Amino acid sequence: MKIYLDHGATTPVDNEVLKAMKPYFNEKYGNASSVHSFGDEAREALDKSRKVIADTINADPSEIIFTSGGTESNNFAIKEIAFDTKKRHIITTTFEHPAVKSVCKFLEEKLCFKITHLPVGNDGVVKIDDLKKAITEDTFLVTIMHANNEIGTINPIEEIGKICREKRIIFHTDAVQSFGKLNIDVKKMNIDLMSMSAHKIYGPKGIGALYVRKGIKLNPMFQGGSQEFKKRPGTENIPGIVGFAKAAEIANNRMEKDNEKMRELRDILIDGVLDTIPSSALNGSAEKRMTNNANIRFDYVEGESMLMHLNLKGIACSTGSACSSQSLQPSHVLKAIGLSDEQSHGSLRFTLGRQTTKKDINYLLKVLPPIIENLRKMSPLYKCR
Ligand SMILES: *Cc1c(COP(=O)(O)O)cnc(C)c1O
Repeated sequence: MKIYLDHGATTPVDNEVLKAMKPYFNEKYGNASSVHSFGDEAREALDKSRKVIADTINADPSEIIFTSGGTESNNFAIKEIAFDTKKRHIITTTFEHPAVKSVCKFLEEKLCFKITHLPVGNDGVVKIDDLKKAITEDTFLVTIMHANNEIGTINPIEEIGKICREKRIIFHTDAVQSFGKLNIDVKKMNIDLMSMSAHKIYGPKGIGALYVRKGIKLNPMFQGGSQEFKKRPGTENIPGIVGFAKAAEIANNRMEKDNEKMRELRDILIDGVLDTIPSSALNGSAEKRMTNNANIRFDYVEGESMLMHLNLKGIACSTGSACSSQSLQPSHVLKAIGLSDEQSHGSLRFTLGRQTTKKDINYLLKVLPPIIENLRKMSPLYKCR
């Protein structure tokens, strides 16, 4: 039995995506900049893919720049805006993905930018009033994620965008967890810059995009050729781009159905766990939450031990994010919503996907309670409670 409940970390490539990509490795392998039929084929695929991605978010194809993924898109957007202004103040949150958090830290420590981290409260959602209060004459950029990767909570992006537009402040959002899963309309939401990635939506790893609204000036992050409107040089990853577009198209088509099914399974999971395991609680808002995310804390137990025991039973999930679980630091996201270090260490993230079945969830609900009971029996914290 092998059950994958870590779709927030990455997803398998959809078979149709794989099929769409295949010819571009060794049949239609041209360089999109070449002036012959091989180049034409590649260029056509590139243009078509760009239009597909643009259409899913109500953007123009000229506003989509392909990158190597979410990390690059975040770096690109935040740094290039910062490097091109005299202002010094950036507003972000306490619970961003490391690819935003550490870019802000870099700008603060190395280049003397001022960073305000908006709190997110127990529910894991930014408050509009906090944003309003944080804005100063010196603010040039607001970077706030759409959906959080660890706890799955969803920020009021449309309202944030509205305020930024009114104040003429550039608004960037890391939409890697929401793109393809929530309806996104960059115009209606007043988004200026938005990061996307393919591998969280059943596309290949190493490809993503940055939406750059017409009128936002963005210098290239590297110097090189004239690919991607001279903003992102380097020979285009055509198989990846084709796969990304296919994945986005599929995700868009089945968005409602997928969400409906996952919400049902997620709620069975959450209710089942909270009903059967004492001293357990959901982290973050239950309502303003992605349909695929259940992040639950278990007091008096250690996440890594739970993870290992679940792994022995064939269940894959995570503590915090895939990135932070490499270190033993408590998750900054769980800290941001008010959890103690112990509570953070005792939290598990289950992220469901398209293949997840009721049987999978039932199996989890069967094996998890005894694992926790046994670990608590060995826990001095539990005995002394
Ligand atoms: C996965 C993820 C990223 C990083 O994207 P990559 O394509 O893996 O570089 C950035 N932000 C969020 C919210 C993510 O979940």
